[in-house]
This record gives sequence, C-alpha cells and structure tokens, in this order.
Amino acid sequence: MDGGAPLLPHMSRVGVDAGDIEAVFLTHFHGDHTLGLPPFVLHRVFVDPRPITFVGPAGIEERLEALWDISWGPDWKTVMRPRFHATYEEAKPSGKVAGYKYETVKLDHGTSGSNGYRIWVGGKILAYSGDTEPTAPLDALVEGADIAIVEATGPGDVFSHMSWEAASDLKKRHPKTRFMFNHLYNGTVEGAVDDLQVIEV
Ligand SMILES: [Zn+2]
Ligand SMILES: [Zn+2]
Repeated sequence: MDGGAPLLPHMSRVGVDAGDIEAVFLTHFHGDHTLGLPPFVLHRVFVDPRPITFVGPAGIEERLEALWDISWGPDWKTVMRPRFHATYEEAKPSGKVAGYKYETVKLDHGTSGSNGYRIWVGGKILAYSGDTEPTAPLDALVEGADIAIVEATGPGDVFSHMSWEAASDLKKRHPKTRFMFNHLYNGTVEGAVDDLQVIEV
C-alpha cells in the first residue's frame, strides 16, 4: 500500500522478503507515497525478478515508468526494463489482483484526489485511505471494514488532509472498525505504536 518510505530497510527489519510482494496499490502519485519505490524496484530487477502488479489511478504506467526513467536514465530502458516483470493496472471500481478482491473508493485530496481501497484479506476487510480529506467518501471507504488504515496528518487546519480531531470523530462514527492512523507530519500521540510492535488484527 503506497511506497513513500524507504521500503527495503523497513521490510528487512520486519522480516518481509521484498521478493514476495505480488501487488502494490498506489493511492496517488505524490512523492511521499511513491519515492520509496525506486530502490525496491532495483531489488525486483536485479535480485528477485518475480512478477509484480502495480495498481493505481489513471496514468499509473506513464507516471511510474517516468519515475524509473528519471532514477536510472538510459540504463533503465536498455538494461533494467527487460528484466523487470511488472504489470500496470488502472484501478477498477472493483477487481481482483494477486488473488485479492478489492474495491476502489475515490477520495477527496487536493487537486489530485486519491484512490482509497477496500481489500479482502483472509476473510477480513482492510480499508486503506492514503491521503484524504474527511469527507463522505471516506466514511464509505471504512464502512463495515474490520480494520482501517487512515491518514491523520496533524492537529487543527491541515490543508487537503484529515486533522486529528476529524480522525477522532471518524473513529466514533465507526465503533466496530479498528483504526490505525498514519501520515502524521510531526510528533506523536498517546497510544501510538512502538517501533516493531506487532498488532493483532
Ligand atoms: Zn498526497
Ligand atoms: Zn501524503
């Protein structure tokens, strides 16, 4: 789900094999959601060339290929692209990728918007917002979800994002859903997870 942070060191620390990832869902193309991907792609080109699918908004192939191209210049097309077994897929209202059923919910986020996803994993529904304003589509995204990973950027007025106050209200409106809030721009809050803490869902 998105790839803004450096993926390889994080995966290594939590024991995830970067070669095992079968699908990447992107909510939108802002840098803090995509710029952790190039080193991960490097791994999938040279270390573990298993097939991978990128699902995201319209233009996903052009946007990501441009990112790989700017990352490595002419070597991308001549040396690396032929070894990279990637498929790009524009997110449908509902579909299936890597065996997982998903639904897409269009969320409000500045001028770009954002694709929220509902994904069926092991009989549970996971909702993931990426960046969003606290508008009606967000409630539709988390409605009935077992777990929701939703942004909560900061306190007070947060342009094109959700405030901590709005996040708290959202949680109250959906008492049966377990929420995990991410995308905090600064500081921490009471009850935040510790580094490497395992959360049972
Ligand atoms: Zn954004
Ligand atoms: Zn963001």
